[in-house]
Amino acid sequence: MFIKTYSNFQCIIPPFIHTVSDVDAPGSKIWSASFKLDQDVRHLFPYINTALDEALYYEKPEHVRFLFDGYRCFLYPDVVAAHFFESKTAAKGFIAGLIDFLNDMYHQKENIRPNYDQIKQVPIIDILKILPKTNCQKCGYLTCMAFAAAIMKGKSAADKCPSLASPAAENAVYPVFDNKGNIVNSVSLRINTSELKNRIQEQKEQILMLEASLRTHKQNENQADFPQASKKSNFNLTNREIEVLKLIAQGYTNNEISGMLFISPHTVKSHMINIFNKLSVSDRTQAAVLATKEAII
Ligand code: SF4
Repeated sequence: MFIKTYSNFQCIIPPFIHTVSDVDAPGSKIWSASFKLDQDVRHLFPYINTALDEALYYEKPEHVRFLFDGYRCFLYPDVVAAHFFESKTAAKGFIAGLIDFLNDMYHQKENIRPNYDQIKQVPIIDILKILPKTNCQKCGYLTCMAFAAAIMKGKSAADKCPSLASPAAENAVYPVFDNKGNIVNSVSLRINTSELKNRIQEQKEQILMLEASLRTHKQNENQADFPQASKKSNFNLTNREIEVLKLIAQGYTNNEISGMLFISPHTVKSHMINIFNKLSVSDRTQAAVLATKEAII
């Protein structure tokens, strides 16, 4: 096992919680936890960046942020901070699950293509330079300064300001002009392309599904001429893995599968890694296509 234990566990109610939440309400999510791992896990960050849909991988300080079992997690090389838990017991359950997940990632990383794209934090003053400074509030923030701060913290994306409509790229480069209209600098900001990417991915998956159906149809026609053809293998997939595979092929996300099968997103991820290994594929589209082709689902 890669990570065996953790230390320096602290679980507190942050001071600001007292002002915004009823701390006495049963089940209130008010606890914030931190702990130290017995291993440096920074080499897993690019793999986590690939494996978890909503992971954010920051350059400085180097860390990765993601939702895990419904809790917000900030994973540094050997320190973890997470919130907001309903109890200290829930925080300890989270730690056990996270360590299992990190150990899984360590053992499965040969099968995952790492994503080294990191978010570089741009100073707020540089972001402010490219905003129109009209405080029109169309971005949902009271002022351009507040919006700039939200971008810097990764809470919003530059293309939420209509005056900064951007090309479809992960990082858009905006020119900075002086008073005479000359370009004096440029600022590179991350923009939100997830909706566009989802649409493109859906279309790609639909095309691949249609191609796979067509191939299956042709194979069935051929097999009709050879009724004694041997039964196809199910690649030693368990019934649960086949259930997950069916939902993957129908285009459901990990979170949706987790809700439909009443299992945690972490468990869905484990099933997916097993499915990918057994089918010798590297992504969900290939898995769905192969499963259709081989009549597993
Ligand atoms: S929409 Fe743009 S111009 Fe308007 S307040 Fe937000 S950042 Fe400023």
